[in-house]
Amino acid sequence: MPTLPKQPLNIVLIGPPGAGKSTIAEALVHERQLVSISTGQRLRAEIKARSLIGRAVAPYLDKGELAPDSLMDRLLRANLETLDPEQGFLLDGYPRTLHQARGLDGTLADYGRVLYAVLALEVTDEEVIRRLSGRRICEGAGQPFPVHIDDLASMLRCQERGGHLVARDDDRPDVVRQRVAVYHEQTQPLLDFYESAGLLRHINAHGPPAEVARRALVALPPAP
Ligand code: AMP
Repeated sequence: MPTLPKQPLNIVLIGPPGAGKSTIAEALVHERQLVSISTGQRLRAEIKARSLIGRAVAPYLDKGELAPDSLMDRLLRANLETLDPEQGFLLDGYPRTLHQARGLDGTLADYGRVLYAVLALEVTDEEVIRRLSGRRICEGAGQPFPVHIDDLASMLRCQERGGHLVARDDDRPDVVRQRVAVYHEQTQPLLDFYESAGLLRHINAHGPPAEVARRALVALPPAP
């Protein structure tokens, strides 16, 4: 019987805004030697660079809406294109709609890949609002990192490194409410989709990020 080529860890991370996706992604990427593909980060970089894509998506991010599926699909393909076939990835923030999830299977098949697991970060709406209203990004001190105004240690870390705090444009209260609503309407249905596929792992995302990262690592199924 022919043996299938060894599959790298191809992981999807799903969670509402403020669930800590990028922090948990960073830990997973480090521990399991994955490449992170963060669609939100990528879009913000395009907006900052005032590229054609950036100018096209800025109004969506500004309102807390999702960018068009067709553009996101192309963005994903462009990222997969550059990956070594044996290199695993962690998709942070993609897919976010059923259309994207269905498209992902086909896209991965085109690159000879299959999904290994889908990790769903679970956190209440109240906690999301609390986290995002106090969230800042420390910039100008190497790789930008998240800071919370209630977390003195993170504020000091930024200050000691000579960084400055900036708020994400889409962390304004009205936009946060819209992003949470969009998550419930458009992204939450993916949980059933991936549950039926037997790929879903639920992660309690309350508590310190290091603890949530540990839960996520434990939840990953063992390598085949
Ligand atoms: P995030 O950093 O993951 O919270 O994403 C920030 C914003 O980027 C979202 O609110 C959307 O406007 C946009 N975005 C990121 N990923 C996607 C996606 N897969 N599909 C559509 N829009 C996205």
